[in-house]
Amino acid sequence: MSTTPIGPSDASVSPRYAGIATFARLPRLEDVDHADIVVVGVPFDSGVSYRPGARFGPAHVREASRLLRPYNPAQDVEPFSTQQIADAGDIAANPFDIAEAVKQIEEAATHLGAGDTRLLTIGGDHTIALPLLRAVTKKTGPVAVLHFDAHLDTWDTYFGAPVTHGTPFRRASEEGLIDLEASLHIGIRGPLYSQQDLTDDARLGFAVIAAHEFETAGLAKVIERMLARLGDRPVYVSVDIDVLDPAYAPGTGTPEAGGLTSREILAIIRALRGVKIVGADVVEVAPAYDHAQITAVAASHVAYEILSAMTPRLDRTGI
Ligand code: MN
Ligand code: MN
Repeated sequence: MSTTPIGPSDASVSPRYAGIATFARLPRLEDVDHADIVVVGVPFDSGVSYRPGARFGPAHVREASRLLRPYNPAQDVEPFSTQQIADAGDIAANPFDIAEAVKQIEEAATHLGAGDTRLLTIGGDHTIALPLLRAVTKKTGPVAVLHFDAHLDTWDTYFGAPVTHGTPFRRASEEGLIDLEASLHIGIRGPLYSQQDLTDDARLGFAVIAAHEFETAGLAKVIERMLARLGDRPVYVSVDIDVLDPAYAPGTGTPEAGGLTSREILAIIRALRGVKIVGADVVEVAPAYDHAQITAVAASHVAYEILSAMTPRLDRTGI
């Protein structure tokens, strides 16, 4: 990287609640000559099976992200000054045609992620993970999908539709986009259609750490199992905000009781600091069901923690 990264606007000059919202008040992509990481929104929710509204997620998360600050003490990194991160705005996706929208998302993600640029995408419903995986795997080959969710999202079809927010990882597995030996769901819970759901899911390449295992095995064991599963593979992180308990994320489309706390998910993401993250998304924030920005605050901090985990570690001993 040749130039000093442009960071968030100076909150001591212009208050952080003033101006047009970009993620963490970062510069827009057109205001930088190169981005190591692009934050981009996908306001699309035509793939939902229950409550709609995640199309308003990107704007809601950007609003809540105004309060993020440059130094992350939990990871001892400055994500915005160590690398250039910029906000690319939103990908326009056709709300009336899922196939067309998925094509638009794949094309835009391929373009934005050209070269060594990595994407952190704010959804939108979970349908968007499929075109995002299609785009990133053109560069990396099959990836280990680290999927945080209450739901498996490996179902086959809804009402005959093969591409929905409940099916992205089945399609991705069928297309050879995911590493069958290293992919993992964390936070799964709630009723399923039948035991067959789990059998199919395992065949499609996923291991499962269920939400109740946070009680029985504990957080440290969960992290240990996660890192062992991922190994040194390229990892794509996909966070459905409903992995959190509705107490921590009420503003989502398919809430399930008994989920993770925001403290737990932040701790797990911090453990990814040595992992090769090739891209990430945070999806399913539906502001109409949110209160006092609870869900958006959680989502913006999850995104910040992922960006921090993606930050190269500087050798401080040489300073
Ligand atoms: Mn879900
Ligand atoms: Mn999901």
